[in-house]
Amino acid sequence: MTTKIIIIDDHQLFREGVKRILDFESSFEVLAEGDDGSEAMELVEKNNPDVVIMDINMPHINGIEATRQLVEKYPESKVIILSIHDDENYVTHALKTGARGYLLKEMDADALIEAVKVVADGGSYLHPKVTHNLVAEYRRLAAEEGQGSDRRPAYEIRRPLHLLTRRECEVLQLLADGQSNRGIGETLFISEKTVKNHVSNILQKMNVNDRTQAVVLAIKNGWVEVR
Ligand SMILES: [Mg+2]
Repeated sequence: MTTKIIIIDDHQLFREGVKRILDFESSFEVLAEGDDGSEAMELVEKNNPDVVIMDINMPHINGIEATRQLVEKYPESKVIILSIHDDENYVTHALKTGARGYLLKEMDADALIEAVKVVADGGSYLHPKVTHNLVAEYRRLAAEEGQGSDRRPAYEIRRPLHLLTRRECEVLQLLADGQSNRGIGETLFISEKTVKNHVSNILQKMNVNDRTQAVVLAIKNGWVEVR
C-alpha cells in the first residue's frame, strides 16, 4: 500500500527537502506540491491524497485556515501541520481545526517519516517539544485555577479526572487523613459497606494492592492534600 502525500509550503527549497525525504521512503509517494493554502482544496480534490503536509505561514491563505476548509468539506482529511511555531496558541488552533499532526521544521527526517506513517494509519502525531509546551500550558492553567477564589478544595481540582469519581476522590482524601472506614462513613454520611466498595474501586482503578499504597501514590501525584 502506497501512502499518497501532498505538500503545501510557500518555500520551494523547504518543499523540495521534504519531498526528497519522503520520496526516499518506498511506501510513500508525493503526488503534488502547492505553495499556498488557497491551492489546498483543488490539490486534494485532484489527487485524493492520504496525507496533506501543510505549512502555516503562507502569503494568501494560511495553513490553519486551509486545514479548516479541508476538514469542513472532507472530515476524514489527514493534515499534518509543519511549522516553525511551537507555541501552544498555534498548536491548539491547528488541532481545533482538525489537524492530525503537528511537526516543527526543526525536526529530523525520521520524525517526519514516522509522523506520516502514524497519521496515515489514523493516529495523531505531535512533535515532542509541542507536547511539552501543551502540557506546560495545561499545568499553568490548572495552577491558575487552583489559585483562584474558587472554593473547591485543591484535591478536587487536581484529582485524577479520568480515573476516580468525585466521591472516590473524597474517600481517597479521607484515607490520606488516616481515617478508618467507619470514620469515613461518618464523615460522608454513608454506610461502612459503601465506604468499602469505594475503597476497593479506588484500589482497582489506581492499580495498587492496599490503601497505604493508594495514599502514597496519591500524595506523590498531588491528588490529595497533606493536612
Ligand atoms: Mg511559510
